[in-house]
Amino acid sequence: MKSFCNYIKSIVLGIWNLLLGMKITMLNFLRPKITEQYPENRGKQVMFERFRGSLTMVHNDKNEHGCTACGICQMNCPNGTIKIVSSMIEDAETGKKKKVLDKYLYDIGTCIFCDMCVSSCPQQAIAWSTEFEHAVFNRSKLVKQLNNEGSTLKVKEKSAPKTEVA
Ligand code: SF4
Ligand code: SF4
Repeated sequence: MKSFCNYIKSIVLGIWNLLLGMKITMLNFLRPKITEQYPENRGKQVMFERFRGSLTMVHNDKNEHGCTACGICQMNCPNGTIKIVSSMIEDAETGKKKKVLDKYLYDIGTCIFCDMCVSSCPQQAIAWSTEFEHAVFNRSKLVKQLNNEGSTLKVKEKSAPKTEVA
């Protein structure tokens, strides 16, 4: 009699475990399906904010960027994807030599989208865009210049002089 009870118990337990497993399957089966009809939905497709589509350089409406050509992003890039071309010029105000960015070259063909460049930039000069269509017929077209033609370094606003507290 005892072995028969154990037999029934094991059947009930087996069915219970089966139903538990099927619960997840049924929940997913009944969930509304999200299928992207790409490329038909190209015009209205919205990528999520954190998507790393392509590296870009942030420019303001005066065509100014924040890149000081320090090269930190280039040094941190594990794949040699970034190339900073810079030159030294004389500052008109101070007469001191300073480095300026000529070209910020980014080869998306070798980028692994690790974010080391963006997270290490001290000026927040580069950021991710959600653009994801990069197919080209020639690999050389995957190398992009991120600084706009004629763009210049953003002039930092001078902080107001400190007022002494009596
Ligand atoms: S993007 Fe940032 S880290 Fe890279 S060179 Fe410019 S300022 Fe330096
Ligand atoms: S995301 Fe990574 S691989 Fe791509 S450019 Fe930045 S540091 Fe280099």
